[in-house]
Amino acid sequence: MKAYETDVLIVGGGGAATASTISAQQAGARTMLAVKGRFGVPGVRGAGATSNPLADFWTIRTVGPKGGFFNPPDTVFGDMLQAGLGMADPALCRIFVDEVAEALSRLQEIGMRFQSKMLATMHANKEAGRTNRIVALQKAVIEETNTYVVEHANLTDLIVEDGRCLGAVGVDDEGRHFAIHSGAVILATGGVGQLFKYSFNPPGNTGDGYAMALRGGARLFNMEFMQQGLATTWPTQAMVMLYEMEEPYRLLNAQGKTFVAGYLPDGVTLEEVSTLKADHWPVSCRDNSVHLDRAIQGEVLAGRGTANDAIFLDLSQAERGFEAELFVKFMASRGLDIKRDLLQVQIHHHTSNGGIRIDADAQTAVAGLFAVGEAAGWQGADRLGGTMLGGSQVFGRRAGRKAARVAAGRPNKKCGQEAIERVVEQIARMRESTGERTLDTFRHDIQRVMWRNLLVEKNAECLSTALEYVERDRDRLAGDLRIRSPFDVALAFEHRNLLDVAEVIARTAMLRTESRGSHVRSDYPDRNDEEWLTNIFAVRQEGELRLQREWINRTCGWDDKPGDIRIRPWG
Ligand SMILES: Cc1cc2nc3c(=O)[nH]c(=O)nc-3n(C[C@H](O)[C@H](O)[C@H](O)COP(=O)(O)OP(=O)(O)OC[C@H]3O[C@@H](n4cnc5c(N)ncnc54)[C@H](O)[C@@H]3O)c2cc1C
Repeated sequence: MKAYETDVLIVGGGGAATASTISAQQAGARTMLAVKGRFGVPGVRGAGATSNPLADFWTIRTVGPKGGFFNPPDTVFGDMLQAGLGMADPALCRIFVDEVAEALSRLQEIGMRFQSKMLATMHANKEAGRTNRIVALQKAVIEETNTYVVEHANLTDLIVEDGRCLGAVGVDDEGRHFAIHSGAVILATGGVGQLFKYSFNPPGNTGDGYAMALRGGARLFNMEFMQQGLATTWPTQAMVMLYEMEEPYRLLNAQGKTFVAGYLPDGVTLEEVSTLKADHWPVSCRDNSVHLDRAIQGEVLAGRGTANDAIFLDLSQAERGFEAELFVKFMASRGLDIKRDLLQVQIHHHTSNGGIRIDADAQTAVAGLFAVGEAAGWQGADRLGGTMLGGSQVFGRRAGRKAARVAAGRPNKKCGQEAIERVVEQIARMRESTGERTLDTFRHDIQRVMWRNLLVEKNAECLSTALEYVERDRDRLAGDLRIRSPFDVALAFEHRNLLDVAEVIARTAMLRTESRGSHVRSDYPDRNDEEWLTNIFAVRQEGELRLQREWINRTCGWDDKPGDIRIRPWG
């Protein structure tokens, strides 16, 4: 078997991975960056969300006065806690606020140009397609170092012995396994967008980091909180920023009928939900705009959507507010004139707010294991827009520095053969599967089921459907998998991870019998602070998933005030 050795292994190729790699290098470590697919090539497997060419502009939440930006640090900090509705980690939010201006300066030093400062906005430029340039710029820095980059490396499991992470194993695209012995491992594997039929995340984002960390003994938290928002489904995907548009919105089902009114509780008007939606893009039950999102998804699930699982958004009458020039131009390049044509829109999965539990240096509960970017969990029930990219830089830097120190304290990097063999056996079993069901079918079906049952509005019934599906699909994966090519082995491991993460999301969402921020339950529509000011942690013990609740510290700074977020729009 091929084996590598390094001080710090960074798994992933997005903005969190590149920031961590640069930082570990600067701290004197030998670094290896292992990524599935290609490193930093937008639009292909491996690109990650950071380089996924889907958005017209990208933002980093900034603070001032340091760096010349306008939002005072305490306002941003306070709003992060308010948005998190008690669920965000206050200490990590403070670090973000204190360090994001420096992160921006570092990006500027290597060539990043921002178009506006309130939110540092990066217009996706021509060369980069519709992607931001963070990875491209940091990749150029990494290429000047002696970092060993391994592409087409699908990491499948961590090697953990006596509570310490000693490296990882994986398969390449030809189905051959390999091991990487390392002093520390940084998981920068992004989120789990591929669990859902409609998502902004690229094909490689299958929640591998969450699943590997869970199997390795780390804890996940806040996994029930996911960002979701409106985007076109046809002729291409593009985020639709309703807060930039005329309201009230004219939404029509496939029969050309208006329908939102049918989803509104007594006394709530279309004007009200539209006005409230102007405060934020993501789905959130913190205000009545949630009924707009419920209506959009509900109409499609009721069978009254278009063939593209969408409803129509009519912007032909929009006269005020719609200034999203890049969006208009992009739609025109796809043959749609928004003044004449109807848009087909649906709610898409965007990011996971929760993730692997980390401390101030992005360390997990497993010694030598770190998590950064979307793989790490520190945000709450909702989050401010622009905090994911900034957080990847801030915690990437911290993780790289600390991981280099941890690795320096472990001169002998070799791990026990037994741990590797356990994993290799699984790979061999997977490779020899001779069932009927192809991985295309596995992926297609799980995405459809989870999009219907785990996004937007949930209840006990649909969460049970999701959980039953996970159980049945595990059996199918074990007994009826058809491996058609060596690359299928990597995809089969991804599917195992999708199932593990789906179980965590569905079980935490089932346990949380209330609605809070992005977690919307039709059977428990109200927030219930009496019973639910707790974070939910997921751990794997003796092969079983266990959930643990921990009460939040009531003096953390979150304060239950209505109309509580000062920055507008906040998301
Ligand atoms: C269209 C879009 C617009 C967005 N806009 C904003 C914004 O404006 N502001 C903001 O703050 N956030 C935004 N977000 C969210 C933000 O971009 C992501 O949360 C962030 O980029 C995640 O970075 P990351 O490095 O953690 O993960 P990613 O960039 O997703 O990278 C993950 C990497 O890990 C690799 N990988 C995964 N599993 C494995 C494995 N098993 N083995 C090897 N490699 C693996 C992947 O191939 C990929 O290279 C947006 C997201 C999208 C999709």
